[in-house]
Amino acid sequence: MAMKRAALALLLVVGAMFLLAWGAPAYGGSHPISAAEATPTVEPTPTVEPTRTVPVNPAWMKRYWGHRVHRVRTTRRVVALTFDDGPNSRTKQAVRILDSYGAKGTFFATGDMSRHRGMAAANRYVLKRGHELANHTMHHQRLDKSYAANVKAIMDLEKLLIAQTGKKTRWVRAMGGDVTLTGLRATRKTGHLYAQWSLAVGDSVLGYTPPSRLYHNIVDHVRPGSIILMHVTHPETLAALPSIVRELKRRGYKMVTLSQMAAMGKPYPSWYVR
Ligand SMILES: [Zn+2]
Repeated sequence: MAMKRAALALLLVVGAMFLLAWGAPAYGGSHPISAAEATPTVEPTPTVEPTRTVPVNPAWMKRYWGHRVHRVRTTRRVVALTFDDGPNSRTKQAVRILDSYGAKGTFFATGDMSRHRGMAAANRYVLKRGHELANHTMHHQRLDKSYAANVKAIMDLEKLLIAQTGKKTRWVRAMGGDVTLTGLRATRKTGHLYAQWSLAVGDSVLGYTPPSRLYHNIVDHVRPGSIILMHVTHPETLAALPSIVRELKRRGYKMVTLSQMAAMGKPYPSWYVR
């Protein structure tokens, strides 16, 4: 009887361990420890990967490594407004509009724009006002090239932004959202997460779109966890922004930075690399 009970207990313990290992989050660097690895050896085994130089990253980032994040799976009424292709003369205006409603945004800067006169100050202003600055590649590039070229497109801008602001960025977005699996691997290598979008304001087509159309493109389709794509290059987008923010607020949506929203949920299932 005692033997039977012990055997049952052992079975339960093994079962629980199996479930725990099965349920462990799948992100780069996580793998079950084999018996050989667990056994101490005379010589310390060298680690397979050199230690990352990003020790201060919050725990939630692990959930997003290597994902192409379209939106965040959350039940909370939060959205992330993202502004691409800046900085430019409208960046501060966008920040002021958001500030006047207590909303936050994420600004995807390119290197070519950041190098213009006065634009380092615009990038600093974004951060100073509590918004997020993100990496849209040095020359507004697609991340569909070789691994080395993709890493360079990200890192050339990253170095520039660190020089301008003293801060690292967390998110990358390729020009036009064109990222391959190799591009995703590059973003992981540089210590970044990759952000796509789930809802576009519709200002990226050539020509003028009336602000009322832009407004409806957002408010008719918004949902919790939406990542909203806009461009600071379009005056009509700035014209539509106050009414969009007002309406989202009225419906109980909180507009937060991408990182703030990501911390509240999980990446919506999308392809990703390990
Ligand atoms: Zn762009």
